[in-house]
Amino acid sequence: MKLYNTLDKKVVDIKPLKEGRFSIYNCGPTVYFRMHIGNIRAYVDWDVLYRALKYMGYEVDRIMNLTDVGHMTADEDFGEDKVETQAQKEGKDPLNISNEYIRTVLEDFSTMNILSPKGNKVDPNMDLSKLEEEGWTRATSYIDQIISMIKKMKENGYTYETKQALYFDVTKLDDYNIFTNQSLEEKQEGVREEVGVDPEKKHPADFVLWMKRVGKYENHMMHWESPWGDGFPGWHIECSAMSTSVLGEKFDIHTGGIDHISVHHPNERAQNIGAFGHPSVQYWVHNDFLTGVEDIKISKSSGKGANLSDALSLGFDPMDIRYLFVSVNYRVQLKYTKESLEGARNARLSLISKLKALYKQSSEEGNILEDYKQKFIDELNNNLNISGALGVISEMIKSDEKPQDILTTVYDFDRVLGLNLKEEVEKKELDIPEEVLKLANERIEARNSKNYEEADRKRDEIENMGYHMIDTKDGYTIEKK
Ligand SMILES: [Zn+2]
Repeated sequence: MKLYNTLDKKVVDIKPLKEGRFSIYNCGPTVYFRMHIGNIRAYVDWDVLYRALKYMGYEVDRIMNLTDVGHMTADEDFGEDKVETQAQKEGKDPLNISNEYIRTVLEDFSTMNILSPKGNKVDPNMDLSKLEEEGWTRATSYIDQIISMIKKMKENGYTYETKQALYFDVTKLDDYNIFTNQSLEEKQEGVREEVGVDPEKKHPADFVLWMKRVGKYENHMMHWESPWGDGFPGWHIECSAMSTSVLGEKFDIHTGGIDHISVHHPNERAQNIGAFGHPSVQYWVHNDFLTGVEDIKISKSSGKGANLSDALSLGFDPMDIRYLFVSVNYRVQLKYTKESLEGARNARLSLISKLKALYKQSSEEGNILEDYKQKFIDELNNNLNISGALGVISEMIKSDEKPQDILTTVYDFDRVLGLNLKEEVEKKELDIPEEVLKLANERIEARNSKNYEEADRKRDEIENMGYHMIDTKDGYTIEKK
């Protein structure tokens, strides 16, 4: 398989360190607010990567972190701890806050058919003490590993201590900014007014490994004993400690958003070298952002951008959103607007209606069409070219292969796409109420006589009754919303 490795700045062949077995770390959410829809795009992308590797027969060891301490606002060292700030705002214990928002992560994963890091369907009501078994690692459960990794860096001479914190000294590395090739001099610390700066800090790019519970953080609620005093870990060390303690000092793939290319990931890499004397990650893979999100955002209250519920309340099916996300490569900025979602919905429903037609024609168990399967795998191997993979499906549907073979093969592909196609296709045909059918016919008549306003009105009425009317080449289909 080929993926774009940010370190090499090109698409490369990926080979696991262990024959037949990939290890993957997904930079996960900081659990203090309902995930932004852009994060969900990332987790759909990495879900597809995981599913694709499994589909091709690899074993995959994967974890995803849940950051529940130490992630500062604006990602700076001396900001406010995001989880604690939210806890204060809501008048709750930080643990309750993180549990509450972990629950929303589970809900969103389940809704979007994103598998757990271990590869199972997510039960949003799962017992939170079982998170680790499903591959989710909580920073607060890894304090011992964090401390022992910092000790190694200290022994190796990569750290220095001030009255406020223990820092990683970035000048000890020749290639700290390997991701961007920016020199250390060019790197500026983004100082915001409320952010204090430690006068003893030597270089603006140095970053906190352990924050002491003094000064501004005197009353920090989450804190632990350490060789550097009572305090709490910095954000970057959490990822290094969790990834390497579970996956090993060297592992294969580390994912994250492109916003982590300039600070978080160089810091993770620096820590790995500081502790182990070598980098840990073979391939750094980054996803791009969503654009146009404001078009979808409904609730202005949260101030944190659109989340999944915005699009759902506009009447989109979670699988419309998933279809949109899987059909655009992870490295491409994706337009997330009503228009693009409508496009995805039409494409998905048209696929389902074609598959339904095949389903009606198929009588017996089908076989997998191996030639098409190979083409599908070739598209996956090509840097996860899912739009190409969807093209293989269209080509197969148009072919004169047996309907049951086409269906069986599409269902097999859906192990990667995760669009619940079998369920959607074989869903019992609903009894559509007479009234809805009448409206549908009236709409077609209105449209045929070019009375488009009337046609739109009829469509709205159908929508209001809880149904979607989808135009197809041969007429229309009606689906329950
Ligand atoms: Zn991370």
